[in-house]
Amino acid sequence: MVVNRLERMRAIVAQAIAEAKGNLRKIYLLSYGGMAEEQVLTLFAEASQDTPAEGVEAIVLSAGSRYICWNCCGLRFESDDGVCPNCGEAALEVPEEIDFALSKVEKG
Ligand SMILES: [Zn+2]
Repeated sequence: MVVNRLERMRAIVAQAIAEAKGNLRKIYLLSYGGMAEEQVLTLFAEASQDTPAEGVEAIVLSAGSRYICWNCCGLRFESDDGVCPNCGEAALEVPEEIDFALSKVEKG
């Protein structure tokens, strides 16, 4: 099943607008490698239409390996070996459909 990327990007845009308290200048997005930078940017442009984030500069950062531990607490972390820092169990890589996320916002 393909999760609706546009819906997720809209949620990210809404979160960014809330974090910047109406003063959004720049948005940083994390890409986990499943999508090309241009795809993420296109999606952002689409999702930010008619919102205060429309036309705001977006930067796509590429993230390293990311894991999620289903053993202890659903903790998400970045790691080379994928071992959960909480419980020491091997964690799973973040599912493919989680291919981008909000990194941070810059206020104007
Ligand atoms: Zn764990």
